[in-house]
Amino acid sequence: MKGLRIKVAMAKTKKTKKAKRPNWDVYFLGIVNEVGKRATCDRGKSGCVVVKDKRILTTGYVGAPAGLPHCDEVDHMLRDVLYPDGSVTKHCVRTAHAEQNAICQAARFGIALEGATFYCKMEPCFVCAKMIVNTGARRVVCEKRYHAGEDTRRLFKQAKIELVVLSEKVEKYKGQR
Ligand SMILES: [Zn+2]
Ligand SMILES: [Zn+2]
Repeated sequence: MKGLRIKVAMAKTKKTKKAKRPNWDVYFLGIVNEVGKRATCDRGKSGCVVVKDKRILTTGYVGAPAGLPHCDEVDHMLRDVLYPDGSVTKHCVRTAHAEQNAICQAARFGIALEGATFYCKMEPCFVCAKMIVNTGARRVVCEKRYHAGEDTRRLFKQAKIELVVLSEKVEKYKGQR
């Protein structure tokens, strides 16, 4: 009788111990959000984490080049961007994007991103997308859509990079289409 009671107690402990954990994509996107808090341009507040074999290789957030004044100190550096459909949007060009900074960090420390996964707040812009292709990365996971993400989506398809977007929500900021 005594032995049986112990067995039951152990089984109960095992059941209650099993914690609910986020899957890997949700886990790394959570870290992207944390990294993005360091961003210095409030038009996007993007972060990026580059991962291989479930290990973080590099991180980056949107900001002016190192040592130069940031948007939150000297305001944005806005330029008009004309789209094929004739619409014009305002873009801040002061910053290097989160994805670009993650790639630059890899270059500074000599880390290969071949075969890696990029975790991003939203779908990368076309410039970042081209750079991601050239790192040899195989997968891009984003929390949200980017309002001008068509070119990126087409490019990733052509380059056979798997693109996963967890939410159909579009990241919004002032002056977009
Ligand atoms: Zn800015
Ligand atoms: Zn970009």
